[in-house]
Amino acid sequence: MGIYYTPGSLKARLCVDGALRTYQYCEERAIPYSRCGKLIVATNEEEVSRLDVLYDKGLQNKVPGLALVDRKEILEIEPYCTGGLKAIHSPNTGIVDWRRVACSYGDDFRANGGTILTGHEVATIKDVGREIRVDCQDRTRITTKHVITCAGLYSDRVSEKAGGKRSPTIVPFRGEYLELRADKRYLVKGNIYPVPNPKFPFLGVHFTPRMDGSVWVGPNAVLAGAREGYSWSTVNARDMAEMASFRGLWKLAVPNLQYGMKEMAKSAILPLQLADLTRFIPEVKMSDLVRGSAGVRAQAMRDDGTLVDDFEFDESCPGMLHVRNAPSPAATSSLAIADLVTERAAKCFGL
Ligand SMILES: Cc1cc2nc3c(=O)[nH]c(=O)nc-3n(C[C@H](O)[C@H](O)[C@H](O)COP(=O)(O)OP(=O)(O)OC[C@H]3O[C@@H](n4cnc5c(N)ncnc54)[C@H](O)[C@@H]3O)c2cc1C
Repeated sequence: MGIYYTPGSLKARLCVDGALRTYQYCEERAIPYSRCGKLIVATNEEEVSRLDVLYDKGLQNKVPGLALVDRKEILEIEPYCTGGLKAIHSPNTGIVDWRRVACSYGDDFRANGGTILTGHEVATIKDVGREIRVDCQDRTRITTKHVITCAGLYSDRVSEKAGGKRSPTIVPFRGEYLELRADKRYLVKGNIYPVPNPKFPFLGVHFTPRMDGSVWVGPNAVLAGAREGYSWSTVNARDMAEMASFRGLWKLAVPNLQYGMKEMAKSAILPLQLADLTRFIPEVKMSDLVRGSAGVRAQAMRDDGTLVDDFEFDESCPGMLHVRNAPSPAATSSLAIADLVTERAAKCFGL
């Protein structure tokens, strides 16, 4: 709901607006959702002081309904979260099956006269003066006056193909989930999050109930061996070579080597992750967890190793708008991002 983000940033503004509009959209389209709430839980004194700073950010970002809760109140909301000292409660945070939302966006687009082509990998984008030619690997050609790209893990390459800026570069970080066994789902009612480490852009391993009744635990953050590296065994030579020669990644990796190695060890050896979870719910045991699915975050990084924190657009190619960085919470914020993209497109295309 926009608690974490720097006040005044696009992320902060678009997330709060986007979340409220997503609820409204789900109501209008009869897409089931659950406003199950969220606790961000501090388990030691050092985290309590960071929690207070986070709460202040949430208030500045005008996240509705936020409250600081003590140990007793934590237990009223999450009876098994006995490790918490103090927490931020966000009662308006919710969950939805995002596939249903995305499919519904697609239906709306078609109903408004749009055509969606899937499985057409864009190979080149050329401005030939009177039109822009988008050529796909399968030799399909689309000619158009304007192009907007949102290519996630390939947003840098697609933008570069069109003559856009070289930087920022996408670095893929895999997020792996565990799942609670069905007979242990009762341990979690709503979302339970740690207080994030401000040095890293990820929120930390959390408990997430899902619309199908399952409970996901994760995601961790490990450097992936490929942009579409959804498992350890997926390695892509071009992606690896690019990462190895990217100075920015080395600048980030060297000072954070210990953290990175720990994350990799935890990914390979599951019992090492258990301590991160029992801090919140001491009842969780290794035998309650099974490996779940994984996602890959498209993390944009500058040449000096800084992680791009906010949404970023490249308007440097005439007639084109490239979305270069749309990390989490871009799904939650999507309806608000769409307005921003429309505004920017109208301005840079002179419409
Ligand atoms: C583990 C994980 C958990 C997350 N949790 C949340 C969450 O709780 N809330 C939230 O708001 N966000 C979350 N996110 C983030 C969210 O998924 C992204 O911010 C969002 O999907 C970004 O949207 P996008 O359109 O920019 O990119 P994507 O959703 O990645 O879409 C890009 C599309 O471009 C296509 N494409 C790429 N290259 C080409 C090409 N050459 N030709 C044609 N098509 C191409 C791809 O196939 C893809 O369909 C999470 C992400 C991960 C990985």
